[in-house]
Amino acid sequence: SKGAAMVTAVAYRLADQRRQITETLAEFNLTKDQLLEVKKRMREEIENGLGRKTHDSATVKMWPTFVRSTPDGTENGDFLALDLGGTNFRVLLVKIRTGKRRTVEMHHKIYAIPLEVMQGTGEELFDHIVHCISDFLDYMGMKNTRLPLGFTFSFPCMQKSLDEGILVTWTKGFKATDCEGEDVVGLLREAIKRREEFDLDVVAIVNDTVGTMMTCAYEDPNCEVGLIAGTGSNACYMEEMKNIETVEGDEGRMCVNMEWGAFGDNGCLDDFRTEFDRTVDEYSLHPGKQRYEKMCSGMYLGEIVRNILINLTKRGFLFRGQISEALKTRGIFETKFLSQIESDRLALLQVRSVLQHLGLDSTCDDSIIVKEVCGVVALRGAQLCGAGMAAVVDKIRENRGLDHMDLTVGVDGTLYKLHPHFAENMQKTVKELAPKCNVNFLLSEDGSGKGAALITAVDCRLCSQEQK
Ligand code: BGC
Ligand code: MG
Repeated sequence: SKGAAMVTAVAYRLADQRRQITETLAEFNLTKDQLLEVKKRMREEIENGLGRKTHDSATVKMWPTFVRSTPDGTENGDFLALDLGGTNFRVLLVKIRTGKRRTVEMHHKIYAIPLEVMQGTGEELFDHIVHCISDFLDYMGMKNTRLPLGFTFSFPCMQKSLDEGILVTWTKGFKATDCEGEDVVGLLREAIKRREEFDLDVVAIVNDTVGTMMTCAYEDPNCEVGLIAGTGSNACYMEEMKNIETVEGDEGRMCVNMEWGAFGDNGCLDDFRTEFDRTVDEYSLHPGKQRYEKMCSGMYLGEIVRNILINLTKRGFLFRGQISEALKTRGIFETKFLSQIESDRLALLQVRSVLQHLGLDSTCDDSIIVKEVCGVVALRGAQLCGAGMAAVVDKIRENRGLDHMDLTVGVDGTLYKLHPHFAENMQKTVKELAPKCNVNFLLSEDGSGKGAALITAVDCRLCSQEQK
């Protein structure tokens, strides 16, 4: 009959649609062999970044940080810390007490950085930062105490000492003028001078990965790696001085800020990148840069999802073929929404409510597909991040000449903390790709701020010992 023929036609169309969606998403599935290949390439880039002759052309820069030891518990004093470059800008007061009971007490305030300031002039950005410090000192009633300050600045910096960091390039959502190529500590000190209101001792500039590692090492001396899976993606670890050919000296170890987000900027990940990755990169604030980060960090996973959804909608598989204004809006799928969509246990009700909140009118079929898209993109991100980490832990194990090694990785970041599956999938990948390492992941509460204070404290301790 005519009715039966129509039902068959619809069934065919649906089956074909399903096949096409599956095919589109299949590019995001990575086999173990492919992930092992990513691990291998990361290892090659690590060697290039560390080598004297290869460093200049390397993409993974392996910047020395001049942090040579993790805390030993004898750190003491009051410190200010700044945390710039993650989801929130914060000013903190950190009180570290040694003795029978070690304690760290923290007070902080979160400040907004308006988009015009993030992407305005460098002077405006640093004036704004100092304005926030001023407000914080008033709030704490501490305008007249000259405190040592640790500056967590979560961007690639070329360091020649602990208190000097030349910004190599902005990443993520920042693009203030006249900062690249400049010493960020100098920019901060100048802005403090311009304000003529208070004095501070800027002791250290610290990458968030390093702050995270230090915070975790304060609790667990086995912690020699720091990982951020948040707005951006990066790692640091304690490397043997003799392997860091860009720094004089062969004794002991130094923490290197890998800046692994730039992995792939020389094209070495191109065979894993999809058309969606290329589109996200092309329309980003920093095209061509941070290609690995753009496949595995919070600022970009949602953008990949959005671009897939646009593609599926254009082909008539979603949202009744209508591309809404909401769907055209860059950045709508923030980490928290991706996390909510994947946390759904309420028969897709939560997915639909998130979509509705974002202004996307969905049917039940739409929400199934959206959830599936979020799932494959986040899974690939976690696996890629895990493949990078597997390269790092195996490198440390080989450095020590061990067949087997236990170690702790300190982790922070909104993606790691908020997403229901990211942490688990990343850890599983590390286990699979680096079976000779037994890795314990330790979540660092407030790693970047506390870590900057600890690094400042270690330095203050060492300086006063030298003076004695
Ligand atoms: C920056 C790194 C930082 C990471 C995580 C990246 O975009 O280049 O310095 O550690 O984000 O915040
Ligand atoms: Mg050396």
